[in-house]
Formats: sequence, C-alpha cells, structure tokens
Amino acid sequence: MFGLMQEGPLLISSLIEFAALNHGDEEIVSRTVEGPIHRYTYKDCVVRSRQLAKALEKLGVEQSDRIATLAWNGYRHVEIYYGVSGMGAICHTINPRLFPEQIAYIANHAEDKYIFMDLTFVPLIEAIVEHIPKVKGFVIMTDEANMPQTKLSNVICYENFLATADDDYKWPVFDERTASSLCYTSGTTGNPKGALFSNRSTILHSYAACTPDALGLSNMETILPVVPMFHVNAWGIPYAAAMSGAKMVMPGARMDGESLFELMESEQVTLSAGVPTIWMMLLGYMKENNKKFTSMKRTVIGGAAAPRAMIETFEKEYNVNVLHAWGMTEMSPLGTACNLKKKHRDYTIDQKIDLSLKQGRAIFGVDMKIVDGAGKDLPWDGVAFGNLLVRGPWITSGYFKGEGGDTVVDEDNWFDTGDVATIDPDGYMQITDRSKDVIKSGGEWISSIDVENEAVGCPGIAEAAVIAVAHPKWDERPLLVAVKEENASVTKEEVIEHLKGTLAKWQLPDDVIFVDQLPHTATGKILKTKLRGEYKDYKLPTA
Ligand code: ADP
Repeated sequence: MFGLMQEGPLLISSLIEFAALNHGDEEIVSRTVEGPIHRYTYKDCVVRSRQLAKALEKLGVEQSDRIATLAWNGYRHVEIYYGVSGMGAICHTINPRLFPEQIAYIANHAEDKYIFMDLTFVPLIEAIVEHIPKVKGFVIMTDEANMPQTKLSNVICYENFLATADDDYKWPVFDERTASSLCYTSGTTGNPKGALFSNRSTILHSYAACTPDALGLSNMETILPVVPMFHVNAWGIPYAAAMSGAKMVMPGARMDGESLFELMESEQVTLSAGVPTIWMMLLGYMKENNKKFTSMKRTVIGGAAAPRAMIETFEKEYNVNVLHAWGMTEMSPLGTACNLKKKHRDYTIDQKIDLSLKQGRAIFGVDMKIVDGAGKDLPWDGVAFGNLLVRGPWITSGYFKGEGGDTVVDEDNWFDTGDVATIDPDGYMQITDRSKDVIKSGGEWISSIDVENEAVGCPGIAEAAVIAVAHPKWDERPLLVAVKEENASVTKEEVIEHLKGTLAKWQLPDDVIFVDQLPHTATGKILKTKLRGEYKDYKLPTA
C-alpha cells in the first residue's frame, strides 16, 4: 500500500521562490568584478532569475541544454544557477583555474551552447575561442557601460539580455531527476570527468546541508562562501542558503586575506566555508595586522585536511568554531561533518580540537564504510584503515557521457572515494590519505596527511607536502617539501626535532627540502602528482 502524500517533484526553482516569499527582505551582498559592493534581496533575485529563464527560452535554449559559466561568486552567478536549472537546462560551472586546453576540452565535452562569463574571463575565452566552435554565443556578465572591447563574435551583454524579458514567467514542472548542473572534477589524472547533479539530488543535499549536524544553516546566519561557485556549486551553499533564508555574502574575485576580512567585518558574517589554503592567507593577514573578528562564529574547512595549527588558531585566538567537513565533487559534495555529540559536552578545548581533526560523522543520506584490499568490511574501531566507500541519493552513479567506464559503482551502488580512512565507534571518520598519496614503507603505510599536519605546526613552516620517493630498501620513504614563513630561518633539523614530538621514528621524513612555493590544483589543493614528478629521481640521504 502506498502512502497518501502528494508527490510533487523536488525542483530547484522552488528554492528561490521559497526564499523570496519567506525571506524576501534578506540580502545577497556581492563584491562585483566592476568594483562596487552590490546589494539586493532574495525578492530581487527571484525576479531576475525568472527574467533570465524567460530570456533564455526566447533565445531558443531548451531543456537539458548545457549553459556554461566562468564566473566568481556573485549575484549574477546566483541568478544563472536558478534561471538555468529552474527552466530545466543544465548549469555547467567551469573552473577558470584549469589550463586553457582543459577548459576547451570540457566545453566541447559538455557541448555547451552558451557561455556566461565575468569580465575577468573574457581574455581567457578569446584565447580558446577557435577551439570551441560549437558554442553559439557568449554572455558577458556586466552592464552596457562596462562592456569590454572583444574579438569574440556573438557577444551578448547580460543586463541587456535580461531586459529582453519580463518576470511574468511560470517555472516549468518536470521530472525531478532532470539534470540541473554539471561540474567536472579537476582531473589531476586523466581527462576531467563530469559529475551531473539533478534537481532531486540538489534539493535533498540542501535539506541535509541545513541540518544542525551538517552546516546548521538558518536565517540567523550570514554566510560567506569563499569556496567558489565553480567548485562543486560552492559546496551547495547557494541552494542551502535559499532554503534556510540565510544572508549570503559573495566575495567576487578578491579572495586575499585583507579583502575577505574586510567583507566579513563590514557584512557581519557569522559563518564561512573554504579550503585550508584560503584560511592560511586570511589568518596570515590577521596575524600581521593584529585583527580580530567581531561577528564570525564558525567556519567550515574542507576540500583538504584542516591542520591542527589552523584549527587551534581559529578556536583559541579568534574564538571561531571550526567545522571540519569532507566530501567530493562526486558527492555534491557533502559527506561528513565533524560536529560534537552530547558526550563531548565537557571536553576541554584541546580535546575538542583533537576530535575536530577528524573529518566527522556521515550526514543522513550518506552511507559509508571502509573495506580492505579484498573488499571485506573493516571494523569501526578508529584503528583499522581501508578504502572509503559511499552511496546515497546525492552520490554519482556514473560520469557524464560514460567517461571513466561503466564500473563507477559496484553492484550494491558503493562508490570508491579513492580515500583511505578510519571510522571510530562513534562514527567519526578520519581520512588518513588519498590512496594514491599513501607512502608504502616496508609494508607499513605512512599517512602523508599526518606528517603534513604536524609539519605545519612547526614554528616557521607555512605550508608542507609529503610525497613518496623510491627507496632501495623500504620501497618508498617520505620526503617533506616545505615553504617557510616569511623571514623564518627554520632548519631541517628543527623540523625533524618537532616531528619527533608526535610521530614514530619510521614515520619521520628521510629528508626536508625548502622551496619558495608549492604547486596547487585548480581547487587549491597541493598538486602532489606534480611534486612526485619533480622529485621522481630524488636521492634520499638514507638511500
Ligand atoms: P578533486 O580535487 O579530485 O578535483 P574534489 O575537489 O572533489 O576533487 O576533492 C575530493 C577529495 O578531496 C576527497 O576525495 C579527499 O581526498 C579530499 N578532501 C576533501 N575534504 C577533505 C578533508 N576535510 N580532509 C582531507 N581530505 C579531504
């Protein structure tokens, strides 16, 4: 017997309509590429999103057409999220930090019909336009007064385009499984692969994101997603913020420490979200300039492991709670978040920090397990580590156009994340490494993340990466490549001495190399593949 509840489809258009109706006066504040701060409300946003959908329809855009964006976090980008997905088309967010050839590859693979771009990215598209002949037109996200000179043909000015339609538009109702957005993984190995989200998966992910054991969003929050809208939909924040009526503050192109701090203060931001590299810059700026937050209460750190020193600085010096979270593009991206349980209420600040080094508990909707090399389940004892598998309604079942083959999930729908992890009896998962980054030393596994986290806690060290280097006796041994803080005079011996405090002798790096900077991926993570290539023939002093 079926229940007797209504079965209307879960559609993205309903999010922005809900926000406009219930939080109509709540603001979306953006630092524009043109310069000034732009300020309007959810009510304004819905009007312009409807206008955009109608204008796209008039242009001939049809259901499931791919409409690409190359844009920072800003209000026009939010309107495109809603206008495009709301009318049944697919919003394809392109990461502008990819190599131009990769961008051309992705635009062709996705068969993008139109590309919307911020002024910043006009030269980037001009440079590859010959390689993307199927794109019908280019919409520059600005007004007439700021339109640039460009050699692109079929150029449309965003504001003029919007003005071709009014907001008398009824969002279409269609199957909730209809694809809504497309995001390619950065492809550190092989071709980029497209994760294709649906209206249904996006709404379910938003519900989950808002729950207290996930991001805990509500209208009480003012949220500043530093994580870009081209990086897994800014971790779903533009959708979840609308669902909860939270004020959104969009940093645009300026993500340096000073600009972020200024915006957080002027807009009284309470919650932010981003990768560790961003926080490193913000904390560096605050320390140098002796700044303190007046409104920030929490920050979400994800995308790469949050080092202990960073969590400590946030918690102890700035009284900001760190919410360590884990996920991936293929997971929309939220998988786990490290919120405390009742039993941790009386923990000291140091015990709480110890716990928040873990990536946290699964959010309802995400099934999680760890298995050994033969696929056998491993216990949740906080010690056994193995391949981390996940499944659930916002986790990919395959890549766009079958890229990566048919075996993306096993017969029970488990998706192998490529991460290695432990899970403790309370369900807290901790990533020990990415499977390809683990250092396999004489039958023992050394977690590169563990060593890196300890290394950045050493005074004078700003950033650190640990990679495996071939060793005649142990197969592989760790090499630490580090960047010093400005004017620091820390030595190799001091770093090793510091690491001895927490690491076993066999886990210590065999050598330490100082460099001016480390290579990063398009999503701000350390590019280990590049480092491994550079140091492939490095001769360790122990070899
Ligand atoms: P990619 O970097 O491959 O393009 P994602 O941006 O989706 O893809 O990154 C997902 C990966 O990032 C995860 O599989 C995991 O290895 C890593 N990651 C994400 N969050 C964390 C975290 N909190 N701690 C450690 N690793 C993380």
